[in-house]
Amino acid sequence: MTAFPPSRTVILTGAASPRGIGRYSAHYLAEQGWNIGIIDLRSEDAQEVAAEIAAEHGVHTAGAGANVADNAQVRAAFDALEAALPPVIALVNLAGVASPVPYLEVTPEEWQRVIDINLNGVHFSTRRAVESMVALGVGRVVNLSSVSAQRGGGTFSKTAYSAAKAGVIGFTRSTARELGEAGITVNAISPGPIDTDIMGGTLTDERKAAMASDGVLPRIGTPRDIAAAISYLISEDAGFVTGQTLNVDGGLYMH
Ligand code: NAD
Repeated sequence: MTAFPPSRTVILTGAASPRGIGRYSAHYLAEQGWNIGIIDLRSEDAQEVAAEIAAEHGVHTAGAGANVADNAQVRAAFDALEAALPPVIALVNLAGVASPVPYLEVTPEEWQRVIDINLNGVHFSTRRAVESMVALGVGRVVNLSSVSAQRGGGTFSKTAYSAAKAGVIGFTRSTARELGEAGITVNAISPGPIDTDIMGGTLTDERKAAMASDGVLPRIGTPRDIAAAISYLISEDAGFVTGQTLNVDGGLYMH
């Protein structure tokens, strides 16, 4: 078992949106001393978040632009972040898009877009990141799935999203099995509805109440709920947890 290096970096994809889970999590992890690499669609946005985090928390940060659905762009972004930051021992795959299109209306293009970003994007980023983790002998990967994958939709996004997010769970389990020997753990987080802007814009109180009424707890989730789970799963102390899907969903899905 290889120990964590004293100075270490986590890369988060999809961490530039102002009210998103990724940006909140990047701050949360920086507060705990992680150096931070940010990947998002526009390099200006990624660099702006990186600068904001460095200023607030005094850690090393860098940002790079990439469409996670484009393998060459992903590899170039990781190369740039690795050159600028301490060893990358953790990756959090948050980049994702919603897709509220009903199955009978889904076009081949929409289906492909959602699978490309939400599933292939997780693969491209993971594949590149674990190449370095294998060399270091230690690593942590956390993938964002969704309760939509486990409950068969029933959320804002429909079947293309559910299928991609279910793929993320299978991907998580299989990579966990193949990479365990290299000292790398791979886990998924399956959020219920979280108060961000991904579900067609900022949620009204009425929409929040309707979503909450489905679960066991009387509220929807916050980015902080997910950041705390990410923080645990990428910690050194979580080294015996792998291949798991942690539901952070207010009791929407019990398994
Ligand atoms: P968000 O829209 O605030 O954040 C998504 C981020 O991904 C944005 O910064 C966006 O620019 C980036 N992104 C989108 N497409 C990209 C691409 N092709 N390449 C690179 N970056 C791209 O949404 P969020 O709510 O913070 O969602 C984060 C993750 O959590 C997503 O994977 C989402 O599916 C998942 N999730 C969210 C909820 C929820 O209720 N908010 C529930 C379950 C799962």
